Amino acid sequence: MEHETTSVLIVGGSLVGLSAAVFLTSRGIPTVVVERHSGSSLHPRAIGFTPRTIELFRTVGLEARIPHAPPSVRLRRARIESLAGAWFEETDWTPQRKETPTIVYSPCTGAAIAQDKLEPILRERAYELGADIRLSTELVHFEQDTGGVTATLCTRDGHTSTLRAAYLIAADGSRSSIRETLGIGRKGRGLIRIMRSVLFEAPLDAYLARGVSQFEIEQPDMDAFLTTYGDGRWVLMFSDDIERDEDTLRTLIQKAIGRSDLPIKIITTGRWELSALIADRFASGRVFLAGDAAHTLPPSRGGYGANTGIEDAHNLAWKLASVLSGQATPRLLDTYDAERRPIAWLRHQQIFARPDYQEAATPADAATPILDDAAMEFGQLYRSAAVLGAGDELPPAQRPEQWAGQPGTRAPHMWVFVGNEKRSTLDLFQQTWVLLSEEKRWHAVATAVAEKLGIALKFIHIGEAIRSVNGESYQTALGLQQGGASLIRPDGYIAWRSLDWPEDAQRTLRDALRAVAATTR
Ligand SMILES: Cc1cc2nc3c(=O)[nH]c(=O)nc-3n(C[C@H](O)[C@H](O)[C@H](O)COP(=O)(O)OP(=O)(O)OC[C@H]3O[C@@H](n4cnc5c(N)ncnc54)[C@H](O)[C@@H]3O)c2cc1C
Repeated sequence: MEHETTSVLIVGGSLVGLSAAVFLTSRGIPTVVVERHSGSSLHPRAIGFTPRTIELFRTVGLEARIPHAPPSVRLRRARIESLAGAWFEETDWTPQRKETPTIVYSPCTGAAIAQDKLEPILRERAYELGADIRLSTELVHFEQDTGGVTATLCTRDGHTSTLRAAYLIAADGSRSSIRETLGIGRKGRGLIRIMRSVLFEAPLDAYLARGVSQFEIEQPDMDAFLTTYGDGRWVLMFSDDIERDEDTLRTLIQKAIGRSDLPIKIITTGRWELSALIADRFASGRVFLAGDAAHTLPPSRGGYGANTGIEDAHNLAWKLASVLSGQATPRLLDTYDAERRPIAWLRHQQIFARPDYQEAATPADAATPILDDAAMEFGQLYRSAAVLGAGDELPPAQRPEQWAGQPGTRAPHMWVFVGNEKRSTLDLFQQTWVLLSEEKRWHAVATAVAEKLGIALKFIHIGEAIRSVNGESYQTALGLQQGGASLIRPDGYIAWRSLDWPEDAQRTLRDALRAVAATTR
């Protein structure tokens, strides 16, 4: 039977599916996205995007399109009677924040943009890069065999077709029917609570002047949470499962504001299951789970929901691209689960160690040390066959300056001159494998090994091709002695290093690259 074909089919065209489409098409991989809705959800969910997420978007030319939070903004939250009434207490976004040294970890800052505003930006970029995005189209059935996945798609007007893809990414959300069809179970703290919300528009910007954007409303007969999407839209949330009519909602909104003289437009309502559940496997054959399909984590101040899912997509994209281009064997794809599932569990653990979900915390959670945001964002460690030497003695995450170029960690950001242009070292990675060293003998070694293995490997001579802007040495940041070299993966993670010049450099590099890249030669 004749089928339409593609390399990767992504099911779910929300934040994670669209991110996966952008990351894959930016690597030249033919990609089809199907999304059952005609666009983004009317009720936006996420608003907080971390600098790490923006780093990933920077690699695909999206950073400039996303409005940034100025670095000076310290997000704050307050306990109040109402916006116009008494304000009891203001706290930092992340309580118990350890004061960290003022180190610039990233060329990027985070972003506060509503999910329904970010999704069209991602969709537009994916279109530009050649993705085939089919809205109002649902995956209704799929089967996989050793050669690929056959999907049955159905459009809203009832047209059914089949599509054959080499791989399938399930970005179909927390209730993922793909995960369920595969029989993959989930573990974790489970359902924490159900919440109801009402999204409305009101002219309340004056109450944001103190830098507080999240409000815990405390009144004798009302406990609620009020926050804004920063564009005139606000959401009032209730920790219960009560269906309220429009008049009741309007009255509650007025109570939360503390005024009844302002125009209020109710946009929509929502019902949310706050749960913490992580899939037992992130892959089954040719199908990969990403985003909420793989891990549902309750909204937290660390932004571990969408942000975690977007990095899943980034981690998976270069691996699929390597395999589809014939440079790597499918063994490389096993490292997706090995690397991303422990990250989901680390985030699960951190959510319950922090004060926000104390009601669901266990004594073990209370004893878990809280890792600071810089460690969770820029300092997490991957252990897998695509990394050599991430020993068991290493912690799962720590701040970038506590690492010194260990394999499994993100190659650090430093400002450097490339010619006369000031660039972040992060901009040097992402396309191919990269070998970095101050020792120029590695250049010939890298060229020979790349040719032998049929793999794209770029050599960057530290001190010549890149020169430090402020006198810091990138060789030192990578933990290398003078003759040493570091091998960076196409996602900017350190795969391997030789601390100094080895006896047989060519064989040493060849063996390392062959292992971490799962090469076909
Ligand atoms: C109130 C709230 C606030 C949040 N705030 C934040 C935040 O500030 N920061 C953060 O990082 N995270 C936040 N999150 C979490 C974040 O919204 C989710 O993690 C994120 O939406 C997950 O994206 P996803 O693409 O994996 O799944 P989803 O957004 O759930 O998208 C799945 C998509 O798949 C589609 N789909 C499903 N099945 C099919 C099918 N068979 N065929 C075709 N299409 C299908 C659905 O229509 C849907 O569009 C918040 C969540 C909530 C509830």
